[in-house]
Amino acid sequence: MTASLPRRAQPAGYPHFHVKDGSLYAEEVPLQVLADRLGTPLYVYSRAALHAAWESYRSATAGRDVLICYGMKANSNLAVLKEFARLGAGFDIVSGGELKRVLTVGADPAKVVFSGVGKQAWEMQAALEAGVKCFNVESEAELHLLSDVAVSIGKKAPVSLRVNPDVDAGTHPYISTGLKENKFGIAIENALDAYRTAASLPGLQVVGVDCHIGSQITEVSPYLDALDKLLNLIDALAGAGIAIEHLDLGGGLGITYVDETPLAPKALLDQVYARLEARKLAHLKLVMEPGRSLVGNAGLLLTTVQFLKHGETHNFAIVDAAMNDLLRPTLYDAWHGLLPLHQRAGATVEYDVVGPVCESGDWLARKRALAVEQGDVLAVESAGAYGMVMASNYNTRPRAAEVMVDGAEYHVIRKRESVEDLLRGESTLP
Ligand SMILES: *Cc1c(COP(=O)(O)O)cnc(C)c1O
Repeated sequence: MTASLPRRAQPAGYPHFHVKDGSLYAEEVPLQVLADRLGTPLYVYSRAALHAAWESYRSATAGRDVLICYGMKANSNLAVLKEFARLGAGFDIVSGGELKRVLTVGADPAKVVFSGVGKQAWEMQAALEAGVKCFNVESEAELHLLSDVAVSIGKKAPVSLRVNPDVDAGTHPYISTGLKENKFGIAIENALDAYRTAASLPGLQVVGVDCHIGSQITEVSPYLDALDKLLNLIDALAGAGIAIEHLDLGGGLGITYVDETPLAPKALLDQVYARLEARKLAHLKLVMEPGRSLVGNAGLLLTTVQFLKHGETHNFAIVDAAMNDLLRPTLYDAWHGLLPLHQRAGATVEYDVVGPVCESGDWLARKRALAVEQGDVLAVESAGAYGMVMASNYNTRPRAAEVMVDGAEYHVIRKRESVEDLLRGESTLP
């Protein structure tokens, strides 16, 4: 990406982060107040932004039989989950740990779908005992283990096969999941056989068809290509006497990081329903698993400029957040907007914004024109999804705190880790 990308005055995405009198706010709270009181690095979320994102799905599905299962790996803080549970969301989980989180906030297990390529027996058992809506199964081997686990506790596991439709979602290779070469799902040409296996196993009950083709998708066409292939499969299944109740189209809708125009849930769902009606399949219940599009632009990461370092070829702004706090730039070469909390007058300098971790890959942004001084706080935009959840303790760095703004109030929803927290559980040899 080039240096000429937008140097915005206002954050992208939702209006819940905005500049007023030269200072950046989350709803009615000046972000500088949060940085001063709670320290940095600090993840800040807006409750109103979560609600607005949810509303874009709710209004697009009104009057239709659609279950929105929040793809909670994007941001699994209990406070975030509780908001979505209150709003009526289901959840898409990928581990026994995520199951524990949704049960902890009192979510309805009958609205939970369980995805992932490597479910273990204990995770299957816990989900069966909780009574989840569906297991999205990704291989024949998993079908056998799931059936065995279900039989051993006298239950039937509701299953959907995650089919890999071999479509190109037009996104970054690391977040594209619906191509033949990916580890995810069962190849569409083997799906009918796998369904026959599923239907024959004593511990399983076939209930659906599922796909999830990738992430940060901004076009409708990959979804419609996948949908067509799934509808052909559903017809073939009907021919084989296997009836299904629901069709799960996964998540993947993109957000604005730079200047992308995100695909609106309504634009997608209207076209999906037009096809379902044309194929006389509009009676199917629809499931969607959006993650990023529900939370990505509802959060920022605040970080303080520790030092400025001016070199012959590069200028560095060394900040107190690092790749262990926000991995996306170095993992995906992702671009996040940067906004100083207070705009300074005067000339800008082109900086690489880097963290203190001992890796050359430790950078948050490159070639950004900034007017900053030591001690200034910067907001890293669009950090609500795949931010805190990917944080690590590399370099024995305690993980950041998280705070949720609600109007003029704020609530710390995760305390800052201490170094003592990190050492707990370790021991030396006698
Ligand atoms: C990650 C994931 C999602 C959510 O994806 P987004 O791109 O964040 O919407 C949904 N379903 C499955 C199976 C996933 O792995």
